[in-house]
Amino acid sequence: MPRPRCCRRIAGEPACRVFKPAGIPASTLEEVVLSLEEYETLRLADHEGLYQEAAAERMGVSRQTFGRAIASARGKVARALVLGCVLRIEVPEAEAGPTMRDFLCSACGHAWQEPFGTGRPKACPACGADEFHRAGCTGNASPCGHAK
Ligand SMILES: [Zn+2]
Repeated sequence: MPRPRCCRRIAGEPACRVFKPAGIPASTLEEVVLSLEEYETLRLADHEGLYQEAAAERMGVSRQTFGRAIASARGKVARALVLGCVLRIEVPEAEAGPTMRDFLCSACGHAWQEPFGTGRPKACPACGADEFHRAGCTGNASPCGHAK
């Protein structure tokens, strides 16, 4: 399978999108916004401990692009820690879409989930019939907000 070059790959959403100093109203705090890409550089290089070259490859970006993104990310995180800012990770809607697809078998009524990007399942895992259909999306506020 050829590797897509257009999209920067992000493994997943952050566990928490907003980090706020305790005991201070958010309205009085400066906000630092980290892009999802910047967050991913920190996750791969500083959390998983990958070399920048390997991490850049994992994300499908050049070593230079990765270097710029992580420098910016580290600067922002440092600023938030030192000055006591709200740190927000901006997750674009397309990235924040559902990660699982629901399927429903019309033969036996079995419902199950498959992750995105794995292609259409061949048969119902319960009865083996191929009479099944997508039963909508999960994990998003909109009924079907996933990117085409
Ligand atoms: Zn079935």
